[in-house]
Amino acid sequence: MGIVLDFLGETRLELGPARDATRDGTWRMARGDDGIVWLVLDVPDSDTNTVSEAVLTDLDAQLDALEDDPPKAVVIRSAKPGGFAAGADIGALADMAGSDAEDLLRRGHAVLDRLEALDVPTIAVVHGAALGAGFELVLTCDRRLALDGASFGFPEVQLGLHPGLGGTFRLTELIAPDEAMTLMLTGKTAHTKKARKLGIVDEVTQERHVHNAVRAMADDTDDARSRSVRARAFDLSAARSLAGRKMRAETEKKAPKDHYPAPHALIDLWEDAGGDRARMQAGEITSFARLLETDTARNLARAFFLRQTLKKSGSGASDITRVHVVGAGEMGAEIAAWAAVKGKRVTLSDISHDALGKAVKAATKVCEGAHLTSAETRDALDRLMPDPHGYGAARADLVIEALPEDPDLKRKVYADLSDTIRRDAILATNTSSLSLSDLADGVKDPRRFAGLHFFNPVSKMQLVEVVGHGTPRKGVRDRLAAFCTEIDRLPARVADAPGFLVNRALVPYLMEALVLMEEGVPKEVIDRAAMDFGMPMGPVTLADQVGLDICLDVAQSLEGRLDTPLPDIPARLRALVEDGHTGKKAGRGFYDWSEGAPDPGDADTGNAPEDLVDRLILPLCNACVTCLRAEVARNADEVDGAMIFATGFAPFRGGPLRYAQDRGVDAVRDRLADLAERHGPRFRPDEGWDRLS
Ligand code: NAD
Repeated sequence: MGIVLDFLGETRLELGPARDATRDGTWRMARGDDGIVWLVLDVPDSDTNTVSEAVLTDLDAQLDALEDDPPKAVVIRSAKPGGFAAGADIGALADMAGSDAEDLLRRGHAVLDRLEALDVPTIAVVHGAALGAGFELVLTCDRRLALDGASFGFPEVQLGLHPGLGGTFRLTELIAPDEAMTLMLTGKTAHTKKARKLGIVDEVTQERHVHNAVRAMADDTDDARSRSVRARAFDLSAARSLAGRKMRAETEKKAPKDHYPAPHALIDLWEDAGGDRARMQAGEITSFARLLETDTARNLARAFFLRQTLKKSGSGASDITRVHVVGAGEMGAEIAAWAAVKGKRVTLSDISHDALGKAVKAATKVCEGAHLTSAETRDALDRLMPDPHGYGAARADLVIEALPEDPDLKRKVYADLSDTIRRDAILATNTSSLSLSDLADGVKDPRRFAGLHFFNPVSKMQLVEVVGHGTPRKGVRDRLAAFCTEIDRLPARVADAPGFLVNRALVPYLMEALVLMEEGVPKEVIDRAAMDFGMPMGPVTLADQVGLDICLDVAQSLEGRLDTPLPDIPARLRALVEDGHTGKKAGRGFYDWSEGAPDPGDADTGNAPEDLVDRLILPLCNACVTCLRAEVARNADEVDGAMIFATGFAPFRGGPLRYAQDRGVDAVRDRLADLAERHGPRFRPDEGWDRLS
């Protein structure tokens, strides 16, 4: 029996059974009356195709048949509604390290070379994302037909790698090599329009025209693989050296070689062998296998799995379709917009009409940032309803409160809401620093009350702390975690402790930076040192970005409530807040933001105190250990994941706890004790280190 595939109700295909019955096969094949063969990737038991060894072995077997009985043309596409292929199987990649990776890679290359060498036109039809090895498969074809919404990219650098299945030479041959390198070096995705402009795709079409477009391509006998003039310009090694030098300087700023060797290895490879297919191929294989062995790749794979773990902790259905957000300020506006973008029906209330007006404008920006088409933007904005009278609260499955950090105001609004909201609705607060048990006083059903602590900006920061307190009603926390996953955020379940997890760990780091400033260390030096450690921005810049008023609020709320004391709140922080210099939003904080984001540049860290970085980072690690011991978070993986996805903590170090473990728990504890002796009890090692071996 054949299998009928119906692509979005438009292209009907009758596909043969899997060739490799023992493995249930990963490809399906169908031969049409027009002599065109469709090879459809359909990895079993998964919504998404990933390119594994099995996919390549099965493809090899399909190629036997195609070589024996050549069709008029071969089309490659995916059977998954969600997209073409997400890339390589990361688990398998991680397992490859230490084994004979080069051998495996060579076998994979041989299969793709064989597909490329087929003596008939090969056409990739792409809907959704074609990433990493999926993109490499697409590049092997003579031509590429994209459906609206298709996207292409090489996210390998985010895993400490570069493309390893021929992408480095096929993309640099296909399009302008400097553009190709930029895509590979940044890991950015080229969406349909950009992909067309760059020359990645030959045509963009809609599903109903796929068959005709494929037939036209199959009839077109022009040599589709001729190299562009721009590609040939870089055949000269002098041209590559010049471009390579520029790329290296740019890359070093964002991804220093010591921390992220992969993009630098890619530049070396292209500079050395660009334009020479055989040398590029051999070099790609060796370099990829070498990168697999690095700590960076190991830790970035860990970050990938931590993301999956957090995501999974929010699996299941939330049954939350209607959301009401109270407070349309900085946070409420974005929470509402983001939930609407992700398909929820949202009402948004505020006492200020002005705030509601601004929120609608901000929502359009959120849609833009999420790369929505104009139709998707219209639908998202239709789902978001400004609601000055708060009528939506009565219908909502979930009410999110994002009012100013004032417990009396919050409690009063909860009391007002208690007669309005449904008995089965969940009430969640976005508070950063208030105790949920205290706030719960004003709530009619405290067992349906929890925290949903989003980070700013909501559309960029992936983590949400799902804060529990007391004994919630069955399913409340699961539903909230599932809600986070449904709106494409990562839930971390934490307990109602001061600062929860993330702020608890971040505040000592930020405060220590301010103490160092008071001691006379220039802010640029502090920021530079933290960035050299691997933080995405320095702590002083971060404090400005978060808002100095908010930093002060959170620090004050934690003061005296922690086992390990915080440093005294620096006078300059209070003074700046009093003067209204609250950071980025005010145009001035520690830095002047009037001309854009500050840049510590190459601030000279040579004269900085020798313990500068440890004074910043180790209190953060220490606080993570406290949270683990006090069961604020459930396990070390969730702590590391939360810190990476909420603060950008150097992902190539695998998270604060992994960093401490790699450095040696005893060594870190001793160093903390030494810092405590020199600088005070705020560095006192937590007793939980004993359990973290
Ligand atoms: P904000 O001051 O920007 O916004 C609060 C909004 O609530 C304002 O628009 C105000 O008009 C409105 N409001 C006041 N009283 C109201 C009432 N009675 N009914 C309806 N609306 C009312 O505050 P924010 O920065 O968005 O913070 C909101 C919450 O989120 C706080 O609990 C804060 O701790 C938390 N939070 C803030 C950040 C951040 O970076 N700003 C990050 C995480 C969490």
